[in-house]
Amino acid sequence: MIEEELTSVKTDDSVISTNSNGDSEAFENTLRPKDFENYVGQAEVKGNLRVFCQAARKRKDPLDHTLFYGPPGLGKTTLSMILSHEMGTNLRMTAGPALEKPGDLAAILTNLQENDILFIDEIHRLRAPVEEILYSAMEDFAIDIVVGKGPSARTMRLNVPRFTLVGATTKASMLAGPLRDRFGHVERLRFYEVDEIQKIVERSAGILGIHIDEDAAHMLAKCARRTPRIANRLLRRMRDFAEILHQGKVTEKVVREGLESLSIDKKGLDHGDQMYLQALCEKFKGGPVGLSTIASAMGEEENTVEDMIEPFLIREGFLQKTPRGRLATESAFAHLGLEYKEYKEYKEYKEYKK
Ligand code: ADP
Repeated sequence: MIEEELTSVKTDDSVISTNSNGDSEAFENTLRPKDFENYVGQAEVKGNLRVFCQAARKRKDPLDHTLFYGPPGLGKTTLSMILSHEMGTNLRMTAGPALEKPGDLAAILTNLQENDILFIDEIHRLRAPVEEILYSAMEDFAIDIVVGKGPSARTMRLNVPRFTLVGATTKASMLAGPLRDRFGHVERLRFYEVDEIQKIVERSAGILGIHIDEDAAHMLAKCARRTPRIANRLLRRMRDFAEILHQGKVTEKVVREGLESLSIDKKGLDHGDQMYLQALCEKFKGGPVGLSTIASAMGEEENTVEDMIEPFLIREGFLQKTPRGRLATESAFAHLGLEYKEYKEYKEYKEYKK
């Protein structure tokens, strides 16, 4: 239910953004694949979505509500754009934190057209009253609005066009059960393999007109944290180094020197990752240590540490999340060139897991 006057419902451009702003976003949009053919990797997710799109088109129905989850930069937004392309419908984009009042969402929903896709990024950050109106919108394609104030207030049910909600989140576990249950499809995006990232680098280089050697593309791919967004950003930086210092061509030498200048190591760990491992292994002797402690030791926000740094360190086997806190693995110590001492608590934990 919306505790809002109907007249105050408005379409706010700061809430819906179908246009991208800023240099980096414009750059990302240039590189976004427009169809499944050009979307590299994630074979299982792509296979499923192709079938769902075909089936929905055949029945002339909107696609079922779809949730994508996985770390940032893996291609969730891109997939939502591909879905709208495949379905031949409009795409409206917004993000959880941008929807402050239920009225913000009501304005968007009532302005949709039949079969449109509404993409909500960071859907786990929706406020509870906003989330509540999504429930009936998703299930019954209707929303309940309170018109007027005080004793004369009355409830009005408004129909909304049959639409598809595509939600993206880095934290599926933070989604309320009733919201999660209303998605017909839930797809997890995984980190990419090095050869897939290499393909993305070569494709992006082609679009941007950058000359890059195969070996250089491979080296860059190995250091891109298995994430397309990072691979594309690194490619852009390498282009700068190549243009200014090496006559324009991105070679293995350019990449090696460029990565060194950016403090990215052989495993692709950047300054933030290295700081994290150093804090964990040196200050806290490998842990176990709580997220808030390690975040404050680094001077970072917990969210940033949990969403941007930890998933990759876990994926690479440097870190373990345990009920007692974060624990560095033997590989983390080896990577930092430190002596590994298995702590009593870690041993106990491993025994307990057996
Ligand atoms: P997310 O929404 O998960 O944070 P995005 O969809 O914004 O990630 O993707 C970030 C960038 O990475 C985009 O510029 C896009 O071009 C590129 N990208 C992501 N996934 C792929 C892919 N599978 N193939 C090619 N490029 C990709």
